[in-house]
Amino acid sequence: MTKKHNFNPGPAVLPPFTVDKTIEALKDYDGTGLSIMEISHRSKEFQAVMAEAQALMKELLEIPMGYSVVFLGGGASTQFFMIPYNLMKNKAAYLNTGSWATKAIKEAKFFGEVVEVASSADKDFSYIPKDYDIPVDADYFHITTNNTIKGTEIFEDYDVAVPLVADMSSDIFSRQMDVSKYGIIYGGNQKNIGPAGATFVIVKEDILGKVDREIPSMIDYRTHISKDSMFNTPPVINIFSALQTLKWFKSLGGVPELEKRNIEKAELLYNEIDRNTLFVGTAAKEDRSRMNVCFIMEDEYKQLESDFLEFAVGRGMIGVKGHRSVGGFRASIYNALPIESVQALVDCMQDFEAQHA
Ligand SMILES: *Cc1c(COP(=O)(O)O)cnc(C)c1O
Repeated sequence: MTKKHNFNPGPAVLPPFTVDKTIEALKDYDGTGLSIMEISHRSKEFQAVMAEAQALMKELLEIPMGYSVVFLGGGASTQFFMIPYNLMKNKAAYLNTGSWATKAIKEAKFFGEVVEVASSADKDFSYIPKDYDIPVDADYFHITTNNTIKGTEIFEDYDVAVPLVADMSSDIFSRQMDVSKYGIIYGGNQKNIGPAGATFVIVKEDILGKVDREIPSMIDYRTHISKDSMFNTPPVINIFSALQTLKWFKSLGGVPELEKRNIEKAELLYNEIDRNTLFVGTAAKEDRSRMNVCFIMEDEYKQLESDFLEFAVGRGMIGVKGHRSVGGFRASIYNALPIESVQALVDCMQDFEAQHA
């Protein structure tokens, strides 16, 4: 079997280190004679995994005091309603930058008034709106830092007067950031941390406990914080795998090194898209995502779209097809994707151009 260049949008490429360590632990976890699948989540062995994963999240992201890190089930999509359940008294503000933001808005509307402060729907979510006001009486302001489907990204840690809540499913660990600007940061692990099944939530504790509604235990962040993500059985293997990725991040030099690599990879690919006569990028240049690179064929070459996909597959490229709702191409170049894979895609685009332009 030859290893593929994995541009899948999620579940996505993982470091070989994570895959290898997970395979070992599935057979025999740390000399216990048991598979990681077979040990109790309350065993000292697994407690250590959980504690180290939380500690490494805090260390790598420089999470300040007063914040907790929990790993939950249910995916980022469960956070779409857990957030308003825990935070919304009357009103919340949302920035609509794409279909994930739209989904988050839909769920929030079950709990109160949602003010959509701005939307880029007018241009097919190809940019990040910049001029808008956030109501001062909003209970929080929700953003989606990376639009996984249309390939736009927010690179700034916004300064706002209300708690800032961010869905960072597809760009966590991709750049240095100031966690102290946020009330909650959350995301599914399956794009940048590990296999699907675990969701990370970084919560500033003092924003909790302000709503009047009763909150079912499983939905209440305070339950999971006080029980250290062990209120119920957590996704054990997924958290173990996530820990391996976090260790790998640290061994590389942490987030500053990841950011440097991500900038290099993104520049390499966007430069080729801009240079190549066949292809054109779809996101506004200043908002181009470093994680999901979206592009299409120039109008006069539209008929070559499926030929290029076939050509790319023949060269070992996986997952370059655009989202089913969008078409075109999308290369997801998450933290674990080596620059060699980006170079291989660039070579592929150049060779295809030589044949067709
Ligand atoms: C993938 C994705 C989600 C959905 O995550 P699930 O874990 O599948 O619920 C939400 N938000 C963003 C930005 C995503 O990329």
